[in-house]
Amino acid sequence: MNGPRKVHIKSFGCQMNVYDSHRMADMLAPAGFAETARVEDADLVILNTCHIREKAADKVYSELGRIRVLKEAAARAGRRLTIAVAGCVAQAEGEEIIRRAPAVDLVVGPQNYHRLPGLLARAEREGAVVDTEFPLEDKFDILHAPSRAATRARGVSAFVTVQEGCDKFCTFCVVPYTRGAELSRPVMKIVAEVARLAAAGVREVTLIGQNVNAYHGVGPDGRPSTLGQLLTRIAAVPGIARLRYTTSHPCDMEASLIAAHRNLQGLMPYLHLPVQSGSDRILAAMNRRHTRADYLTAIARMRAARPGMAFSSDFIVGFPGESEDDFRQTLSLVDEVGYAAAFSFKYSPRPGTPAADLPDQIAEDVKSERLSRLQAAIDRHQADFNAQCLGRTFEVLFEKVGRYPGQIVGRSPYLQPVHVMAAPHMIGDIAAVTITEINAYSLFGALAHSQVRAHASLRAGEPMRAEG
Ligand code: SF4
Repeated sequence: MNGPRKVHIKSFGCQMNVYDSHRMADMLAPAGFAETARVEDADLVILNTCHIREKAADKVYSELGRIRVLKEAAARAGRRLTIAVAGCVAQAEGEEIIRRAPAVDLVVGPQNYHRLPGLLARAEREGAVVDTEFPLEDKFDILHAPSRAATRARGVSAFVTVQEGCDKFCTFCVVPYTRGAELSRPVMKIVAEVARLAAAGVREVTLIGQNVNAYHGVGPDGRPSTLGQLLTRIAAVPGIARLRYTTSHPCDMEASLIAAHRNLQGLMPYLHLPVQSGSDRILAAMNRRHTRADYLTAIARMRAARPGMAFSSDFIVGFPGESEDDFRQTLSLVDEVGYAAAFSFKYSPRPGTPAADLPDQIAEDVKSERLSRLQAAIDRHQADFNAQCLGRTFEVLFEKVGRYPGQIVGRSPYLQPVHVMAAPHMIGDIAAVTITEINAYSLFGALAHSQVRAHASLRAGEPMRAEG
């Protein structure tokens, strides 16, 4: 035996998948697998797939075609390469993956990856295995904590899953089918995970969930806790200086969450709050459960609670039945909110979702034309927002060395990358930076003198200057 076996995990899609990929690596470490960034060196390749974007399954199959070639080459060299497909495409396609790509050894759904070592051993013994059942056990009870070294290697900003699944059933979305019903982790287990991350040097935690602000995990008193209450507890974990959460639903912006934005200076003044459309008619057809006015009220309440609050969103253009007038209402919403950033996509039907069967599907050229108008509006607002940052001083959390010698890169409170000439030992520090230059998506700045805060001296909950 020459050294540990190597696993290459390729993550598609959202932060939930990045988090899941890390947990898979943590689960496999005690079974003798070390992570490799080079697929050619791997003994095990895991594709952690996402089903949100168009033709997700097709992309997975073409990726599998490339890995099959590597598997054949490994076999000729007398080496075994195991291929696993995880994530939402695995859940949605199941057995079909083995039928269309027989080189695959294991198909494992997002609720089952805590069983990876056992499933791999079974696949080795018995041939292809598919596990997409929704299990009775809680995978978070079984998952291994990452080693300190693994946490450090992943950087000073970490994701923590607090909630999974969704009960909202938007008519275009596969999540309620692939990730299942809403499930929230208990408060104290999350706090313990955050404390472990902080002890290994993590400074910023982003709480993630498909519908994160529907969080209702059991608190230490045995009663359900809101996301606002959870954030308040996590803000008290020593070493954690910054908090974020994503992805939120406008209907779940409840009072304690808004109060958390008012009271916790470490909770960043930037929120991704998807709206999808500015037209009430389309919002109803999407089963979003809120109106344009409800959404704008939620934004106004957040702005009142935290001056300087900025927003990003997701938009779908060309949803079945969307008229030019509906689309213009989306454009006017973009102008009304003035987003700092936003993601926009053409509607594409997902098999098994109600919207896929709606009449009045929109022609592709109409969708493309609307998308480019929407993206122009979003870009304009993003450029305006960035331009307003020029000359301001922000607290920046430094995350990594930059592309140019002597440069390090961090994130502003608004998640903008900020490039600064400074020593690499400042990675992990939060320092005041004055913005001197901007381009389309990045800011450039200089350390504001004597503003550097030493890593070790910062306690979570310590008041950070409110930006804005
Ligand atoms: S709230 Fe989000 S995750 Fe849930 S169904 Fe709607 S789009 Fe999907």
